[in-house]
Amino acid sequence: MTLIFCGNDYKYELEGVMKLFIPAARFRHIYTDDNTTDAAGDDFVLISESEKDGAAELAVKADYLGKQTQRVRSLPPGDGSDRELVLSKLLYEAMSELTGIRPKWGVMTGVRPVKRVNRYIAEGYDKETMRELFEREYYCTPEKFDIAYRTAQVQSRIMPTVGERSFSLYVSIPFCPTRCSYCSFISQTIGSGKKLIPLYIDNLCREIRYTGELAARLGLSLDTVYFGGGTPTSFEAEQLARIMGTVSESFDMSRVREYTVEAGRADTITREKLAAIKENGCSRISVNPQTLNNSVLEVIGRRHTAEQFFSAFELARELGFEHINTDIIAGLPTDTPESFASTVDGLIDLGPENITVHTLSIKRAADLNFAGNKSEVLTSPAGVMVDHAAKRLTEAGYQPYYLYRQKNMLENLENIGWSKPGEESLYNIFIMEEIQTILAVGAGASTKLVDLEGGRLERIFNYKHPLEYNKHFDLMIDKKKEIVDFYAEKE
Ligand code: SF4
Repeated sequence: MTLIFCGNDYKYELEGVMKLFIPAARFRHIYTDDNTTDAAGDDFVLISESEKDGAAELAVKADYLGKQTQRVRSLPPGDGSDRELVLSKLLYEAMSELTGIRPKWGVMTGVRPVKRVNRYIAEGYDKETMRELFEREYYCTPEKFDIAYRTAQVQSRIMPTVGERSFSLYVSIPFCPTRCSYCSFISQTIGSGKKLIPLYIDNLCREIRYTGELAARLGLSLDTVYFGGGTPTSFEAEQLARIMGTVSESFDMSRVREYTVEAGRADTITREKLAAIKENGCSRISVNPQTLNNSVLEVIGRRHTAEQFFSAFELARELGFEHINTDIIAGLPTDTPESFASTVDGLIDLGPENITVHTLSIKRAADLNFAGNKSEVLTSPAGVMVDHAAKRLTEAGYQPYYLYRQKNMLENLENIGWSKPGEESLYNIFIMEEIQTILAVGAGASTKLVDLEGGRLERIFNYKHPLEYNKHFDLMIDKKKEIVDFYAEKE
């Protein structure tokens, strides 16, 4: 598929809209001044912007699989419309006509649609006006607006509880026992990373101590702790105890409201490890089945069964974990709406405090040759699955409390964290809505510095791979001085 830009270079946004319709396509780009499509080949879209006497003409001409259509919009002199958005909508209309698909989030390609709702609420808009704006300005369906709005409502109870100088601590353990076939994270298998681990843990503990000193010097107050990965429980009980012990020694833990460790895969969970993380202050864990269908688990290379997940969950309850999250994924290869529905029902019967429903990313689905479908228009039952989950979880008393989207998700859908009332994970809301500083340690971690009053948000990235992290550790620690500069500017 060729994208031709004439009189504009809105490549990033417009290609994002194209991917809503033909996510598995590869794009070629041509920039021109004369509206020519001669070099385009069979399938192309011409996106043009021109101006005469102050008036603008915006047009999209699409030729796809032998079908053609076009859309044109004229803007009078002085019209301040966002031209990139107008062209996105013209492209959406044209491609909807040619493919018969109408992605439910419309032209909203961003990660955080709930942030937009929160902004509208802060500006005093009522629900109906917001719904209309979502529909008119972004072609978002009322159903998707509703889920974003419900999420914002749950968040509205929690957002005001964030202290001005509070922060969360993220600890990254990017190791897993084996690699799941759909995974797009950077994580290393325990086997191949074996030699790196002792030094990784030494460095991680040094970084935790250094961050603790910075936080104390800046008068910051630790609010939540989150151990993510990878799979933190890939490490042995004593390794986890050492890292968590370093956290407790390095920070004032007296005001910590939530402490999560992602236990993740059932095949890494043992009584000893759960006991160690409980003793060291963890109040919330994730045990993630992804699906309760054993044949799907096998296809995705998870190397554990649904039965192992149930045993791990039961063990966590036995050891006194009162806040448990379980992740599942809609759209996994070979999964069906019926099998997905029984996964949802199985979890509801189990009654975890949080159920997070992810949608498979298309990139991985395409690599996995999803359902044998090699067409650019990748179809899947993920939309049906996500809708079913929303209905059943709502009936069972769960509420959506955080929502985000990633590029390349099947049908441009979303990930939603569902929670029993009052059981929302604070950290997930803070990171998604960007309302609190996150100081992050470990390979692949990124520190996010937030100054809500000053409207500033800055990021500091750690090295991604454990090998680089170990190799360039001192250089990376040096960069963390930017945290002090950020807060100095805030004074
Ligand atoms: S457990 Fe999670 S992070 Fe690890 S390989 Fe599987 S999907 Fe990726």
